[in-house]
This record gives sequence, structure tokens and C-alpha cells, in this order.
Amino acid sequence: MLTRRAAVSLLAGCLTLAASSLPVVAQNVEKLKVVATFSILGDMVRNVGGERVEVTTLVGPNGDAHVYSPTPADGRRLSEAKVVFTNGLKFEGWIDRLVKSSGTKAVKVEAAKGIKTLSGEDNHHAHDHGGADPHAWQNIGNAKIYVANIRDALIAADAAGKTVYEANASSYLNRLDGLDAEVKGLVAKIPPERRKLITSHDAFRYFEAAYGIDFVSPQGVSTESEASAKDVARIIQQIRREKITAVFVENVSDARLMERIAQETGARIGERVYSDALSNENGPAATYIDMMRHNIRAFSAALSS
Ligand code: ZN
Repeated sequence: MLTRRAAVSLLAGCLTLAASSLPVVAQNVEKLKVVATFSILGDMVRNVGGERVEVTTLVGPNGDAHVYSPTPADGRRLSEAKVVFTNGLKFEGWIDRLVKSSGTKAVKVEAAKGIKTLSGEDNHHAHDHGGADPHAWQNIGNAKIYVANIRDALIAADAAGKTVYEANASSYLNRLDGLDAEVKGLVAKIPPERRKLITSHDAFRYFEAAYGIDFVSPQGVSTESEASAKDVARIIQQIRREKITAVFVENVSDARLMERIAQETGARIGERVYSDALSNENGPAATYIDMMRHNIRAFSAALSS
């Protein structure tokens, strides 16, 4: 028969055992569930969140967030999330209604917060509906601000992961610095008078401001509006006048317009570029870094040759 003292010490032993097994249990806790509105942003969140975070992306690879129609499943994903990352700058015109209807208590974080915006009206043509140009990630300097915002939001939502998020963000920021230098190096090799090209929708204004290649587009900053006949005629004239040799189609745009422009001007259609969405996993732009590298190589190949 156990003495009272032995029973107490046995109980204490069990408690110690239970306590010592706690950290193991803690490592298996559920990951922080977060939602990112589109694939480029989802990749950045994954890089900062690492193993601690489960990221769901609403608009997937090759998807067009300008004109997305949310599904009931998206509402459920939002309601389960602790943080919702958006680009902001009215890129996702559908997100506020979706957040409201989902009833989610998630914190909403605009990744582009704090960047120096370019106005949609700064464009070389005037049919855009004003407001800020949302494609800020096309400048790697802005992507670094996105990453800092993501890091801070993850720390606020999951303080226990602070050191992990800081370390992940720091190594990712270093890689972005390397990427920025790589892009600048390739632009520097293109003869200055050739640094001009055509893309179908106006998604590269931040790239232009940061890296010094001029972009001309028949379509505005959103894929919602179609290019008018007048815009197309104006661009065809400009291509002929300035002897622009390359036109590009983005993965979120309809290729037909550019095919017509290429046919009428003799400009070549360059490799497909990625503006608003990543490629699928096996494609050339499966991550943000791969996307920026693929695009500058495509531009450089067309303009240097
Ligand atoms: Zn766009």
C-alpha cells in the first residue's frame, strides 16, 4: 500500500512528466492561418512566415485579381484566417465586400502601406480611372516595404514567432537586394535609346520609375477597361515613329490585341511576361524572385539583340 508521502511524490512525478511534455505539444500547435489575396503576395508571406504560417492564396497563379469573382470557399478561408494580407491601392476591388460577408475577425493588412505611390494619371495616356497605380511590387524597393509590413503583421498576430519572422524577413530582404542589383545590371547593358517597349496593360509603371525602361500600353492600369481603337491607333503610330521593336503580353492579358499590333508594325512579340500573378509551379515565374528575374531577362533579350 502506498504511503501518503509516496502517493504525493508519485503525483508530483506525473505532473513533472506532464509539464516536461508541454513544449513538444506546443511545437505541434496549429499554424497561424493567413490569407493573401493574390499569388505574388502569397509567395512573400510564405517567405516571411515559413513553417509557422499556413498561407492560402485567393487569386492563384495566372489569375487576374483586377476582375476576380470571389467564391463561397474564399469566404470560408477568410473566416478561418487570423490575418488577411491585401495589396491595397484598390487592386482588389472585391475584397471589402468579401471580408464583410465572411464575417471574419481577421486583421486586414495592406502590404503596400507606406510605399510612395504613382498616380494612375501619371500614365502617358489619360483613359485610366485615376487613383494610385496598384502594381507597386514591380519595384523591388517597394517589395521590401511589403516584406517589412508582412513581418510586423505576423509578429503582431503571433508574438512567439518574433525571432523566426525577423530572421526569415532578413534573409529574404537580402535576396531581394541581390535581385535588385541583378535587374539594374541587366538594364545597364541595354543601349539607352533602346530602353522602350510595349506591354498590353499598364502594369510596369513602378518598374519604369525604378529601373529606367519606358513602357507603353494600349490598356490602362486595370485589365477591366479595354483599349479603345484610338489608343491602339496611337500606339501603332508610336511604334513606327520610335522604331520600337518589341511588344510583350502579360500572363493576365488577352494576347490577341498585341498580336494585331505586332502584325501591323512588324514588332516582335517577346517572351510572355508576368505582371500581376505568378506562373504555376512548373512555370518560369513560380516565385516573386523568379518572376522579376524572368521578366528582366525577357526584356533584356528583346532590347539588346
Ligand atoms: Zn494589373
